[in-house]
Amino acid sequence: MCQGELSRGATKFSELGAGAVLSPNSQRAMQLIDPRIFEGFQRRAAFGVDPPDENGIFPWMTMTKGQSLDIGEPVMQWNHEIRGSTIHRAHFLDELAELIEPNHAHFGKSVTKISENGDDNPIILNFKDGTTAEADLVIELVPDHGTTLGWSIWEMPPAPTYYKGRVAIMGDAAHASTSYQDAGAGQTIEDSLVMERLLGKYFDPEREKVHALDTVETTHLIFQAFGTVRRHRSQKFQTTSSETGRILTGAEPGVSMKAADMSKRMDGRQDWMWNYDQEMQVKDAMLIFEEVEWSRARNAANSSA
Ligand SMILES: Cc1cc2nc3c(=O)[nH]c(=O)nc-3n(C[C@H](O)[C@H](O)[C@H](O)COP(=O)(O)OP(=O)(O)OC[C@H]3O[C@@H](n4cnc5c(N)ncnc54)[C@H](O)[C@@H]3O)c2cc1C
Repeated sequence: MCQGELSRGATKFSELGAGAVLSPNSQRAMQLIDPRIFEGFQRRAAFGVDPPDENGIFPWMTMTKGQSLDIGEPVMQWNHEIRGSTIHRAHFLDELAELIEPNHAHFGKSVTKISENGDDNPIILNFKDGTTAEADLVIELVPDHGTTLGWSIWEMPPAPTYYKGRVAIMGDAAHASTSYQDAGAGQTIEDSLVMERLLGKYFDPEREKVHALDTVETTHLIFQAFGTVRRHRSQKFQTTSSETGRILTGAEPGVSMKAADMSKRMDGRQDWMWNYDQEMQVKDAMLIFEEVEWSRARNAANSSA
């Protein structure tokens, strides 16, 4: 989620000076990946100062019409039981960097090429500095274009798949979106949760001892399960984010620039995204993996009987 140079010279991420709103679903995903990530977020985030209402609900985002004829009329009011907050990206990255075990990350590297030459060979990564590395699987977080070029905001068309062979994409590389719902990083954190749980469970050496799939088959199945659960949600977000942009700029057919009209279309627009059962998403992905794994084991047993 960082932009600009990665360096760990001794050990440092660098980042553009922008802030990010990390929505309630992003915060829950952080907690589920590792409570220490959420603790770091809480240490560095700036929290809204408005008190909650009588039901304990905090205001998050308020938008009013800035143009005549109905200037000052409400367009949008998003609220949540979690207090609204924003964080400077560099501060968040500092907290993440603290959690990386030494020798588990190499900074200041720029990938120029990824080559997969058959399942029996490792994937080769070429770097700009002339060095290479070998990998069993690769997860790309680098959009083919960066999402911001000058003041243009770009989005990707819906990708038909999030993996090919042993190379998967996630984050903006998979579903770069417009920024009208302040949630692209949140989708990236949700991706990380699902991928982290799948990799952790199915590459656990104890489990590998009793299951028949090899590294390549396990990788394919993890990526398949990941893509199946993540594509729908992240691409729905791309679609609604674009639509939000069109509504707020008067470009959505059938929605006038009257505050009341825009407000009707903005109402509840974030609910599905903010209030989501993330554990269920992980369970769904694991179910997909295990159903295929089980049917392969059954077929293998039948054919050897
Ligand atoms: C104006 C704007 C405002 C936004 N506001 C919000 C917000 O408030 N809340 C929110 O949730 N989201 C927001 N987003 C979206 C959010 O910034 C992205 O969705 C998020 O940064 C995606 O994270 P990522 O890790 O996938 O990609 P990135 O953050 O783009 O990270 C990719 C990294 O890969 C590095 N890299 C590039 N090429 C190579 C290479 N060849 N080799 C090695 N490394 C490379 C890059 O330097 C970068 O560090 C906003 C986006 C924009 C444009």
